[in-house]
Amino acid sequence: MRAIKIILRILAGLFAVIIIAIVALMLTFTASELNVARIDVGDLPPASPPAGMSISALPTGSIESKAALAFRGGAWNDIRQFSMTALLVRHPKGNLLIDTGFGKNVDDHVRSLPALLQKTTTYTKDTPVAAQLAGGGMTPGDLAGVILTHAHWDHVSGLDDLGNVPVMVDAAEKGFIDAKTQNTELLNSFNNINYKQYEFEGGPYLGFPSSHDVWGDGSVVIVPAPGHTPGSVVVFVNLPSGTRYAALGDMVWQMEGIELPAEKPWLLRRLIGEDDDQVHKDIAIMRSISKKYPQIHLLPAHDPSAFRMIPVFPQSAN
Ligand SMILES: [Zn+2]
Repeated sequence: MRAIKIILRILAGLFAVIIIAIVALMLTFTASELNVARIDVGDLPPASPPAGMSISALPTGSIESKAALAFRGGAWNDIRQFSMTALLVRHPKGNLLIDTGFGKNVDDHVRSLPALLQKTTTYTKDTPVAAQLAGGGMTPGDLAGVILTHAHWDHVSGLDDLGNVPVMVDAAEKGFIDAKTQNTELLNSFNNINYKQYEFEGGPYLGFPSSHDVWGDGSVVIVPAPGHTPGSVVVFVNLPSGTRYAALGDMVWQMEGIELPAEKPWLLRRLIGEDDDQVHKDIAIMRSISKKYPQIHLLPAHDPSAFRMIPVFPQSAN
């Protein structure tokens, strides 16, 4: 009798601990405004994009998720399609792709993910980048390079179809790739990737500490924005019309991350291994940029609404 009482007490204690843990975890998904400083981002950097430069979107599919999993305070019944959209920047000095979305082997790629991620990934396939380019009369050989915002699987899946096109990464992301953790397993499974490492030899840019001006005319400028991964970047694309874009990668997953602002839920940040302080700094800068320069359109990689104003390849805007 006494033994039964003790067992019941232990079970009640365990039950209470589990309930407290679940409540604590759910609280990490609730709204919590991120307190970020207003940054002086300086003057609008000059750009002299050539007349022949343009931008196009190449949608390759999407992953179904929920706002609650995208940013703190998002609703659980607010279904969000996470876009997997590559950008093509055509430029007389060389055409560049920014990220690659889903490739033709995406089913295999998803099967290679950790079990939990595999089970929680519901995705829809569109046309892979290589096939879209072919449909518009272009081949991978027409690309001068692919700029990766970072090396996660959903940004590199399409690289599998692009042969030995140079893959442009900064030193920190190359180190992250070479560390061969689970985070970069897919990229490391591709044979003979032709990495082209670049340096941030240029000065400060819109609040970021340094920059890399790809063609030397201010039209495509990469800045370090670490945090989501050690070598994550933002790519600024400045068009002849004066329209400017900032491809944010996964600094935030949906626009609310900048607008509210709000960080990703704690559980997701820990699973990814993000550096919270760095991401907060990036968000502070991007938020200050968008307040001061509304002509710069922010493109969180997985927010389809942000890409709507960019024509789909072979259409383009300049
Ligand atoms: Zn990512």
